[in-house]
Amino acid sequence: MFAKILIANRGEIACRVAATARQLGVKTVAVYSDADARARHVQACDEAVHVGGNAARDSYLRWERIIEAAHASGAQAIHPGYGFLSENAEFAQACADAGLVFIGPPARSIRDMGSKSAAKALMEKAGVPLVPGYHGQDNDPALLAREAGRIGYPVLIKASAGGGGRGMRRVDRAEDFAQALGSCQREAKASFGNEHVLVERYVTKPRHIEIQVFCDTQGHAVYLFERDCSVQRRHQKVLEEAPAPGMSAVRRAEMGEAAVAAARAVGYVGAGTVEFIAEELDDGDLRFYFMEMNTRLQVEHPVTEAITGHDLVEWQLRVACGEPLPVTQDQLQIRGHAIEARICAENPDANFLPATGRLDVARWPAHVAFVRSDELPRVDTGFLEGDNISPYYDSMIAKLIVWGADRQQALARLDAALAQTHLVGLHTNVAFLRRVVASRSFATAELDTALIERERPALFDAPGLPLPLATAGVAAHALAYEETLQDADPWSRRDGWRLYGGARRRFDLEVEGQHRTMTLERLHDGATVMVVDGARHGVSTRALGHDGYEVMLDGARHRLSVYCVGETVAVFAAGGSAKVGQFDPIAHAGDGAGAEGSLAAPMPGKVVSYLAKAGDTVKRGQVLAVMEAMKMEHTLHAPHDGVVAELLYAVGDQVAEGGALLRLEAAP
Ligand code: ADP
Ligand code: ADP
Ligand code: MG
Repeated sequence: MFAKILIANRGEIACRVAATARQLGVKTVAVYSDADARARHVQACDEAVHVGGNAARDSYLRWERIIEAAHASGAQAIHPGYGFLSENAEFAQACADAGLVFIGPPARSIRDMGSKSAAKALMEKAGVPLVPGYHGQDNDPALLAREAGRIGYPVLIKASAGGGGRGMRRVDRAEDFAQALGSCQREAKASFGNEHVLVERYVTKPRHIEIQVFCDTQGHAVYLFERDCSVQRRHQKVLEEAPAPGMSAVRRAEMGEAAVAAARAVGYVGAGTVEFIAEELDDGDLRFYFMEMNTRLQVEHPVTEAITGHDLVEWQLRVACGEPLPVTQDQLQIRGHAIEARICAENPDANFLPATGRLDVARWPAHVAFVRSDELPRVDTGFLEGDNISPYYDSMIAKLIVWGADRQQALARLDAALAQTHLVGLHTNVAFLRRVVASRSFATAELDTALIERERPALFDAPGLPLPLATAGVAAHALAYEETLQDADPWSRRDGWRLYGGARRRFDLEVEGQHRTMTLERLHDGATVMVVDGARHGVSTRALGHDGYEVMLDGARHRLSVYCVGETVAVFAAGGSAKVGQFDPIAHAGDGAGAEGSLAAPMPGKVVSYLAKAGDTVKRGQVLAVMEAMKMEHTLHAPHDGVVAELLYAVGDQVAEGGALLRLEAAP
C-alpha cells in the first residue's frame, strides 16, 4: 500500500477519500485554493498545500502545480476524486510521466471514452447496445438533418465533448433542427472547446440506469450492480438508488456484462461507471442502450457501498497499488436497498437557482461514518457549520445516504433523515427533496427522467409549516428566553426576541415573506394564549436543550427545533420548516414599485450569452441573457417591456451578485 497520497480535489469527495486512506494507514496531502484555506477537506488531511486562487483554473485545475506538490510532499500517488482533473487524460499521462500513480484508469481509456461519439463507435464494435443514432465524424448540417429524419423525431443533439448535463438539445420537429443544431454547437464550442455533435433518438420516458464496474491490472473485471439515477433536474441527478426498482436478475446480468465488455474494450483499470438509458417496453421489460462511460469514481458511489458492503475507495487504492480485485463476481451480492439525496444550496422554486452564503446552522441526523450505513444514515459533506458556500465551486452541500431492508424502509428512513437535516442561512433543496420522496411517482417507483416535471404541482411553491406552528416556535424561543432573564441583569438583554416580564407582548413578524402579528398573553393560571392575526391558540412550551422544544399547540404535541440567527428565527418541525423574521416596515416601503432600469444578476456567475442587443425592443418575460454559476445555466428574463439601452458586460465576464447585466429603458 502507498505510504502517502495527494488528493487533488476538495469538498466532500476529498474528505471521503481521506477517511479511507486514514483507515488504511495511508497519509494524505490536501490541496486548496484561497477560498478553501480553512475548509473541512484541508483539516481532514495530514498535510495541505496551497495551490492558488479561487477559480478552479487557478487552483484545482493547475496540474503542473499539483504534481509539484505531490513531489514536494513525498506523495506516491494522486487521487483525482470526481470533476476537476479526474477525466483529464493529459493529467493522467503527466502523473505517469512524473513517476506518480494516477489513481484511476490509464490515460488511453480516459481518452477513448472522453468523446461521446468516439466512445459510441468503440462500443458498437464491442457489441454494446447503442441508442439508434448517428455518431460519425462528418458534421455537415444537411447530413445531420437527414440522419435526424432517418432516426425519427424526437431526436437529441449532444455535444460529443459534453458533460454535466450540458450541450444537449431535444428537437421535436424537422423544421426546428437547423436552429437547435446551431445553438447546440455554439454552446459546445463555448463550454467544451469543441463543437462536434452526435444525434440520437430521444428516448421518451427514459430511465437512467448505470452500472458500477471495477477492473484490476491483472485482467479481472466485475460489476457491482446498478444505480437508478432517473430523478433529475436539468439532466443532473437529484436522487440515486440501488437496486433499480423492477430490474430482473436476467436484465441485471445482461447490463452488468455489457458494462464489463465496455470497460474491457478500452483496457479499463479501477472504478468506472457505464451509463445506460433504459426504456420500459409494453410488457414491463427494460430495453437499455449505452450512453457514456464516466472514467472515475461517481458522486453516487455510496449507494453501491451501502448495498454491497464494499469500500470502493479502498478498492481504488488497492488496484492502483497493483493488487487484484478482492472478490470475484459470484462473491458479490445485493443486500437491501439504498438511496442517496444530493443536498444542494439552491432554490428549487426559482428554477434551482444556486445559492451562496453562510451556512449558519448545519445539523444532521445521527449518522455513521462512511461505507456501512445500516440503521443510521450516512452523511458525506465537505462543510462545517459556519462555513461559506462560495460561488466558485458546485452547489452540493452534502449527500445523505440511507439504507433499508427494502425500498419502502429506505424511503421512510430518507424522509426521517431529511426531516432532521436542519440547514439555515441559505436556500437549500431539503424540503423539495422530501416532497419528491413523498410524491406518488417516486413512492410507487414510477421512475423516469420526467418525474420532477410530471409531479410539478406537488413539488413547487408548496406551503411551508402551518402558520401557528411557525409562530409557536418563536413563542417557545421567546418564552424560554424570558425564563433565563428572570433574574438577569437588564442591561445585558440584547436578544431581539425577548418577551420581557409583561403579561402581554406583541410581535410584528414576517413569516415566509408575509407580515403577521402575534401576541402572547399570560393567563393567571400560567397558561399562554398565542393570538396570530386574530386567531387564538393555546400553547405551552418546554425547552429540551440543543435548540429543541416540546410544544403543545391547541392540544397537539410537537417537537420543534428553533435556531436564532441574527434577526431571523428558523423553526423546524416534523412536517417542514419556516423562516420567521421581525417585520421591518422600512424594508417594505418600495414594495410593488418594481426594479426599473436594469437586469440584475441573481447570483455571482459568468455571462454565457446575451439574447438581445442594444437598441432591441423587448417584451416583459423575454429571455435577455444566460448566466452560468455553480455548474448550472440560468436564463434571465426582461422584468418589463422596454428598449435595451446598453449591454454592461461581455460574454465570458464574471459578474457579482446583483450586478446589472444591461440597461433597460421604458419603451418610448
Ligand atoms: P456524477 O456523474 O458523478 O453523478 P455529476 O454529473 O453531477 O456527477 O458531476 C460529476 C462531475 O462532472 C462534477 O464534479 C463536475 O466537475 C463535472 N461536471 C459536471 N458539470 C460540469 C460542467 N458543466 N462543466 C464541467 N464539468 C462538469
Ligand atoms: P452527461 O455527460 O452530461 O452526463 P449523458 O449522455 O450522460 O450526458 O446524458 C445526461 C442525461 O440526459 C441522461 O441522464 C438522461 O437523463 C438524458 N439523456 C441522454 N441521452 C438521452 C436520450 N437519447 N434520450 C433521452 N434522454 C437522454
Ligand atoms: Mg452522464
